[in-house]
Amino acid sequence: MILIVGAGLAGLSTAYHLSETPYRLYEREMEVGGLCRSYRKDGFTFDYTGHLLHFRQPQIKALVERLLAGKLQKHTRKSFIYSHRTYTEYPFQVNTHGLPPEVVRDCLMGFIATLTTPAAAVPSNDRSFKQWIVDNLGEGMARHFMLPFNEKLWQVPLDELTSDWVSWLVPKPELKDVISGALGIKDKAFGYNPSFQYPATDGIRVLPESFLPGITGLHQGWELMEVETKRRRAVFKHQASGDTRTEHYESLVSTIPVPELMRRCPDMPTHLKEGAEGLRWVSVYNLNMAVGREQVSDKHWLYFPEPEYPFYRIGFPMNFSPALGRSGCSSMYVEMSHRPSEQHSHEELLSRARSGMERAGILRSEDEIVVADVKDLRYAYVYFDRHRARALPTMLTELERRGIYSIGRYGAWEHTSMEDAIGQGKQLAERLQARGAEAVSA
Ligand SMILES: Cc1cc2nc3c(=O)[nH]c(=O)nc-3n(C[C@H](O)[C@H](O)[C@H](O)COP(=O)(O)OP(=O)(O)OC[C@H]3O[C@@H](n4cnc5c(N)ncnc54)[C@H](O)[C@@H]3O)c2cc1C
Repeated sequence: MILIVGAGLAGLSTAYHLSETPYRLYEREMEVGGLCRSYRKDGFTFDYTGHLLHFRQPQIKALVERLLAGKLQKHTRKSFIYSHRTYTEYPFQVNTHGLPPEVVRDCLMGFIATLTTPAAAVPSNDRSFKQWIVDNLGEGMARHFMLPFNEKLWQVPLDELTSDWVSWLVPKPELKDVISGALGIKDKAFGYNPSFQYPATDGIRVLPESFLPGITGLHQGWELMEVETKRRRAVFKHQASGDTRTEHYESLVSTIPVPELMRRCPDMPTHLKEGAEGLRWVSVYNLNMAVGREQVSDKHWLYFPEPEYPFYRIGFPMNFSPALGRSGCSSMYVEMSHRPSEQHSHEELLSRARSGMERAGILRSEDEIVVADVKDLRYAYVYFDRHRARALPTMLTELERRGIYSIGRYGAWEHTSMEDAIGQGKQLAERLQARGAEAVSA
């Protein structure tokens, strides 16, 4: 029997693709979706920060479009950076036109200097993220956007992070495109997400829910408490009743954060458990708000590199799905990173967010806030650092040797998207099924 822990997209997709193979899917919450959920409050629907669909894998795109047939809308990205009291289009590297001329000059001169050291641009876990930014994009772009933005997002000096994850998220542009962007010539779409899809109504929750008709054996409200890896036994506790249940398995697919999994496995070697405790990450406060004024912005989302603004990103859900709120109003998600050990009061966060948005000219002093709600996303962005590079592969290999497959964004401890979580679940289900078929025919 296959046990799956966590009914986020990775766990749901594993179950969905196992089809005929017996499995049980356990989820701690009373609803499925994990990070990819939405909730309603006072006439507004909010995600756990905006979750927009970008596809790079044709198979997963086709699957999602089939599951959500007739429910998705396609949008051309309207995302901007707000700095020097100016909006410039994302990505910064190819859109400096409109910034003060000295800033544009710094960006161009710095980028041109990188062209004589092309070897330095190769991402790796020996080169720090900070060094990669400077080597790849130049001193000017580093100083005016990449360093302040990323320091705010990651809440850690960037020379503590490695650069082995950056290549698809931060593409290096060509000189012609950097120059065109400085002169305001627009003849090309850039970045990994020039367009995106999103459900027309009800928020991103419709995506995880679309897997449910293809799934049996879902147990909600049950938290994984302990795994005896040698005897292949897992103990679950019901969140409401406190009842416990023990399951025996041949394979266990875990999509919960890998440090949480290792903490629940008392018989794993001590050095691997210590390695898991050393993995680091940043948490995000997700402030979901709405004001009683239409179209406070005409953009989809905005990035804020400057330290005077406490948030790194703000999105406007009603600009990609008007059905998500009350007419005559605007809703927004505001993202503020924090170290997992630091806590702030919700009142303080909301007040800092409001005054920041007034300083940026998004809100006016007379705007009435009609909804305000704060969610703390404990695991948001994992750190790629030297410790991760050393400790993670042996941890995952040893788990797998014991029949435990740790997948998904926090199971594999990586920066991956909804599409990747679905893809990993599919791939693993196919692998486990093929192995089951081999065992039967042997
Ligand atoms: C701020 C932010 C913005 C994002 N925006 C986008 C975006 O725009 N587009 C995009 O494609 N991706 C985005 N992502 C990434 C996306 O959310 C993830 O890739 C995807 O949702 C991960 O799914 P998962 O199943 O791997 O993990 P999760 O969604 O974390 O699922 C894990 C599940 O395990 C359950 N669980 C945890 N512990 C236990 C336990 N002990 N017992 C039982 N169950 C347990 C949890 O309740 C949860 O349901 C964003 C992520 C963040 C943090």
